[in-house]
Amino acid sequence: MNHRSLINTEGGGQPSFARKRSLLLRLIRSAQPMTRTDLAQRLEIDKSTVTDNIKPLIAAGLIREETQSGEGRKSRVLSFVDDQDYFIGLNLGVRRSQVGLISLNGEISDEVDFETPTTASLALRMAREQIERIYRSNPDRRLRVIGVSVPGMTDPARQELLYAPNLGWKNIAIGEKLKVNDSVKVIVENDSTAAAMYEARVRIRRTDEGLMSNFILVRSGTGIGVGLVIGGEVFRGSGIGIAGEFGHMTIVAGGKPCVCGNRGCWEKYASAASAASLYLGDRPPSRGESVPRFVEIVSKAENGDNRSRRTLEKIGDFLGIGIANVIMGIGVPRVIISGRLVYGWKYIKEPLYEAIGRSIVGKFQGWSVEAGEPVGSAIGGALEVAVEEFLTTL
Ligand SMILES: [Zn+2]
Repeated sequence: MNHRSLINTEGGGQPSFARKRSLLLRLIRSAQPMTRTDLAQRLEIDKSTVTDNIKPLIAAGLIREETQSGEGRKSRVLSFVDDQDYFIGLNLGVRRSQVGLISLNGEISDEVDFETPTTASLALRMAREQIERIYRSNPDRRLRVIGVSVPGMTDPARQELLYAPNLGWKNIAIGEKLKVNDSVKVIVENDSTAAAMYEARVRIRRTDEGLMSNFILVRSGTGIGVGLVIGGEVFRGSGIGIAGEFGHMTIVAGGKPCVCGNRGCWEKYASAASAASLYLGDRPPSRGESVPRFVEIVSKAENGDNRSRRTLEKIGDFLGIGIANVIMGIGVPRVIISGRLVYGWKYIKEPLYEAIGRSIVGKFQGWSVEAGEPVGSAIGGALEVAVEEFLTTL
C-alpha cells in the first residue's frame, strides 16, 4: 500500500486523520458520484479506511450510497445529500459585489450582483439584506457557513478585514456584522486565496492530476493578489494575515503612484484596471472621451483595434515580468491566472510567455501559466471558502 500521495509534509510521517478525511470529502464533492473503490484508488488508501470514514457521515445523513443505474455491472456510488445543508457566499469586490448560494452537490444559485458602496457600513448592510433574504427563503434547510472573500488582508482567525487598499477600508469586523445566528459561522478570506481554493478543487476532479497540486494563483482585477497552494492546501503565511501581497511589489522605480502610498507597484501596470490608463497613454481622458473598461478594450481588440490589442500585449509583458519574479521567489513553477484579466487571455498570453522566457525562470523547463475560471475570482471563491470550512470541521 502506498501512502506517499497522502503524506503531510509536516514531520514527513503518516498524514493526520483529519487531513485524510478532508481530502476524501473534497474528492467526493468534486467527482461525485464515486464508488468506494475509486475513492480508495485515487487516495491510495485501503477501501476499509474509506468505509470507516464514510460510515458516520452516512449515519448522519450527510452522504448517501445508492446503486447507480446504467448499463453493465451495477455499482454502489457515494454522493452528498443535497437537500439539507446550504452555504452562502459574499464576494466583496472593489467595483462590484455578489451574493449567492450553493449546496454540497449543486450549482451556484440565487446570485445577485450589486455595485459596491464606497463605505464599508453601507456595503455590509446591503450584503446582509441579501444574506437575510436567502436565509428567510430557505426555512426548511440548514445554513452552515457564510464565506466572504475580500480584496485585502484578514486576521488569522479570518473574522476581520484588516486592510483593503483599493477600498480604503481598515479593521472591519465582517464576521460579527454578517452573523445571522450563533450557529452559523462566518469566514472572511482574502479573495486571491479564495480563488486559489476554487481552482484547487476544480483540479481535483481531473483524474490525470494528483490530489495535492502546487500552484501560484495570480488574481488580476482592480488590483493584483497572489494565492498559493502547496500540496493541495492554501498557504496563509505564518499568522500575521499577510501572504501573497505581490500586487504592491515595485516593478517600475519612481513609477505611477499607487493607493498604498508607494510608486511603481505591479498592479498599476498589470491589473485589468490598469488597462484603461495604458490605453489612454497615461493621460487623463480628454473631453468627451470615456475611460474604457477592461472588457470594452478586449472587445475592441477582437474587432481589430490595434491600440486595444497593444494595450493588452503591454499588460501581458508587465504581468510576465512580475510572474517571473514571483516564481523565482517561491519556487513553484505553475501559475494560474484568475480575475477579469482572463477575458483578454488570448492577447496577453504570448507577451507574458516572452517576458518569463527572458527571465532566469525561462532558462529552466517545466514552468507554465494558464487561465483559470472567471467565477472562481468572484462568487465561486467565496462559496468555496464556506464549503471548505464545513468539510474540514466535519
Ligand atoms: Zn501599491
